[in-house]
Amino acid sequence: MIQHRTHVFADLDGLQAELSSEAFTRLAESSTALLVQIYSAETDRAHMRPIVSLIADRLPRATVVGASTVGEIAHGRLLTHHTVIGFTFFASSELTVVAMACHGGDERAVGAEMGRRIRQWRADAAGVLLLATPLSIDAAALLEGMESAAIGCRVFGGGAGDYAAMARSLVFAGSEFFDQGAVAVVFAGGGLSIEPRTYLGWRPLSRPMRITRVDGMRVQTIDERPAFEVYQRYLNIANDDQFFLNALEFPLLLERDGELLARVPIAADESGALQFVADVRAGEVVRLGYGDLDLIVQDAKALHRSMTRFSPQAVFLYTCGCRRFLMQEDVELETLPFETLAPTFGFYTYGEFFGAARLTLLNSTMVAVGLREGPPARQASAQPSQTEPAPPALRDPYANKHARIIARLLRFIGTVTAELEASNREITKLSITDRLTQLVNRIRLDQMLDEQVELARRYGTPFAVILVDVDHFKQVNDLHGHLVGDEVLIRIAHALRDHTRKVDVVGRWGGEEFLVIAPNAGVEEAARLADKLRAAIERLVMPGVGHRTCSFGGAAYERGDDPTTLVSRADAALYAAKAAGRNRVEIGTRGA
Ligand code: GH3
Ligand code: MG
Ligand code: MG
Repeated sequence: MIQHRTHVFADLDGLQAELSSEAFTRLAESSTALLVQIYSAETDRAHMRPIVSLIADRLPRATVVGASTVGEIAHGRLLTHHTVIGFTFFASSELTVVAMACHGGDERAVGAEMGRRIRQWRADAAGVLLLATPLSIDAAALLEGMESAAIGCRVFGGGAGDYAAMARSLVFAGSEFFDQGAVAVVFAGGGLSIEPRTYLGWRPLSRPMRITRVDGMRVQTIDERPAFEVYQRYLNIANDDQFFLNALEFPLLLERDGELLARVPIAADESGALQFVADVRAGEVVRLGYGDLDLIVQDAKALHRSMTRFSPQAVFLYTCGCRRFLMQEDVELETLPFETLAPTFGFYTYGEFFGAARLTLLNSTMVAVGLREGPPARQASAQPSQTEPAPPALRDPYANKHARIIARLLRFIGTVTAELEASNREITKLSITDRLTQLVNRIRLDQMLDEQVELARRYGTPFAVILVDVDHFKQVNDLHGHLVGDEVLIRIAHALRDHTRKVDVVGRWGGEEFLVIAPNAGVEEAARLADKLRAAIERLVMPGVGHRTCSFGGAAYERGDDPTTLVSRADAALYAAKAAGRNRVEIGTRGA
């Protein structure tokens, strides 16, 4: 069984006294491995060194690691400007540590090497705690490197912080300190279970925007405009040295592999580029997001329930510094309930690490890790209701109203945005739909021709077009009137649509002419399709009008075509079909 003790550091004498206590000595002697995590507001290694050497001296077998923070978590509570030391005693597990310095550009190689060493130590590790310095290295690339080594177990942890100065952060393993580097603690052992979980609780606020230019970890443009303008326009945040403190609650949200990820900008420069500590890729669609307290409480409860089932003996938390800014004193609502399950310890980060086969660099999230040796405790699963998160203590009803007001404003913005998006979708649909036939109109056909030509040029994917013109349609109008003429156009339009594949597009080109765009079709497929359509229309019986026919002119994309040359070839073929007697198909090739 795992036992955990947390020491809130005051001075070396106090630490010495704790380390020398009888209970402590007994725990240390009976354990197979001891993990010491030191999380501190101090980024100065001179502060950390004597602590590390005292521990190394008293507990020579301990694995000692640590990081600088944006807030410390001891006994499930938030501390600020402290140093907290977590001692985790294992009864049957084993630990090793892999630590490496890492310089800009080397992240992938360092990650891969760390992964290789982890695998080399144990191919069946139960989990890896990763601490790194995302302020000074590309932690996403580090994770990619590590992922490539296929270490085959869960990875969790956090990025070192520095209380919003954004200047310096620190990780360490024993007496090795790194301003730029990463430290991994590898856990292994038959009876050991590790359960890392994460949730975000942020919700998209703005309309979607596209990342248009990226240089490393700097996003230069969004929707072709300097990226910073998003923060200025929507949030009135200035491009000054307070940028990070003002922007951190409003990360960009993006979807990757079905997961909603947050990306917090840490600075803006004169050119209007935004600096991030996690990767954002060109072409990705992002929205400004904001933490939704209701969603956070909901997610926190769900996580607490699953953690209760897991029945941890220790809980480690690596949670984003921006959650503190968002929730203020309420932030303990999502950390303190874990303390009812097991000793809860960790720190507030600049970025969280999470994953198994795929490793993800997260921002703004809470990563909670349950650890257990042996089977789950019985009473935990028998009485889950007793370990539900404690309700928040009664408070002054006038205090802390900002959260409720913000929740209502968020709701308002969310609803307005959803309404606008729905009406935009409706307007877009109307603008590309032909009113008479309900097929797509010329505007949309032109767009699709451009897209298909682009695909054909770039990837060589073939496609063909078929122009369709109703034969002697003027007669229909002259004999039966315009309204009947309209009805005939609708019938023919639906027949064309019903006899084409889902991937084919049928639109109204104009008047009594239609265009079919057939992806992945060459000359022969186009001829076959056109003849099928010709036969289908010939068979059609229209009330009061009887049978009508159409003529067809097809053309397949050839290298060097643009939409105009391609459609001209189909048009010439159509003209030939008319000249040759109508109710016919002709295909135009460039030589012809
Ligand atoms: P051809 O076989 O040479 O194509 O003969 P056509 O009579 O079909 O060709 P023409 O271009 O001389 O006439 C096309 C007619 O289609 C003229 C126009 O009034 C009619 N038309 C175009 N759009 C509509 C429409 O939306 N509704 C109706 N009822 N008629 C339309
Ligand atoms: Mg015509
Ligand atoms: Mg006609």
